Amino acid sequence: MSQEHRFKSGFETRAIHAGYDPDPTTGAVIPPIYATSTYKQDGVGGLRGGYEYSRSGNPTRTALEGALAALEEGERAFAFASGLAAEDTVLRSLTRPGDHVVIPDDAYGGTFRLIDKVAGPWGIENSPAAVSDLDSVRAAIRPGRTKLVWIETPTNPLLNIGDIEALAGIAHDAGALLVVDNTFASPYLQQPLTLGADLVVHSTTKYVGGHSDVVGGAVVVRDLAVAEAIGFHQNAMGAVPGPFDCFLTHRGLKTLGVRMDRHCDNAELVVEFLVNHPQVAEVIYPGLAEHPGHAVASRQMKRYGGIISFRVTGGEEHALEVCARAEVFTLGESLGGVESLIEHPGRMTHASVAGTDLEVPGDLIRLSVGIETAEDLVADLERALEPGRE
Ligand SMILES: *Cc1c(COP(=O)(O)O)cnc(C)c1O
Repeated sequence: MSQEHRFKSGFETRAIHAGYDPDPTTGAVIPPIYATSTYKQDGVGGLRGGYEYSRSGNPTRTALEGALAALEEGERAFAFASGLAAEDTVLRSLTRPGDHVVIPDDAYGGTFRLIDKVAGPWGIENSPAAVSDLDSVRAAIRPGRTKLVWIETPTNPLLNIGDIEALAGIAHDAGALLVVDNTFASPYLQQPLTLGADLVVHSTTKYVGGHSDVVGGAVVVRDLAVAEAIGFHQNAMGAVPGPFDCFLTHRGLKTLGVRMDRHCDNAELVVEFLVNHPQVAEVIYPGLAEHPGHAVASRQMKRYGGIISFRVTGGEEHALEVCARAEVFTLGESLGGVESLIEHPGRMTHASVAGTDLEVPGDLIRLSVGIETAEDLVADLERALEPGRE
């Protein structure tokens, strides 16, 4: 099957076959871990397959990048050492001092820190806007200066939904590009480039890798000129992943479809349990009809994902207790792995925004629902929510 044909096949087929053909010399079905920094040249400049030095290119990375491009339906994909390295490369490729970027008013904390605290002092200004409110994004744009409209959907931890198609229109009307951080949905649930976005960024640390064993990032683009800028900066800045990291990420990517379906199945069962629990004040999940982004999410996502946030009736103290009592749900940051995680955003992932407009409620708990047996997850939460258990 040609790579060309693979690009047009179903998601799972692309996840398993795109980006790599069995090795012509050995028949190896899986891309070898090319632990090499340099490549023998057949005479000066006689590169084999274009490889000259592993910052510029490595076959294990090429295979991963090919698969990512096929899954996001992009022209090219670029792998990075972390999600933030991918984001930094986008910023430095596409903005210059004096430019302006619109960012989510509830952006992932590391993204906010990078854009505000790192890019800011280099002359890139930013304005926060609510991704779920088109007027707020429109109002944040500075005509002529805004180069990027940067969104996440769903956002973290409040799972707000941005309308990718509408936001692409708003960005393009202003002469800006739309960047979508697709980490939470993964390409299985949502392909922003097909809805008009110009760039997709990922923390492949999360669902794409999926096993909590590797940190990585990716940028996928639609347009060749943008691809050229990102490719130049990937090599010039050098924040590339090593071949073993690429191998792990690619290995995880192959099962993304089946994992995401189980994440979603389990999340739906956990949501059903939580909405009926007397100790739960509110459940935040885009799959619920009462979620304000439900209609948009239904339009642009295949399913609603594996992240659930909820508020308990007993205040912050109770939320902290629930986090501490859970056993199958591991208390920890990050998300998107096969194992279920529980965390208290106010004291953990979002502690740095305490006291600002982005502060999250103290009674809020975030779950990354894993792919364990659903009944065990529900039983664990039932036990953890029981008041006065200690
Ligand atoms: C984790 C995360 C990032 C940052 O990625 P790293 O791989 O940790 O550098 C960016 N965006 C979102 C939505 C994330 O969850």
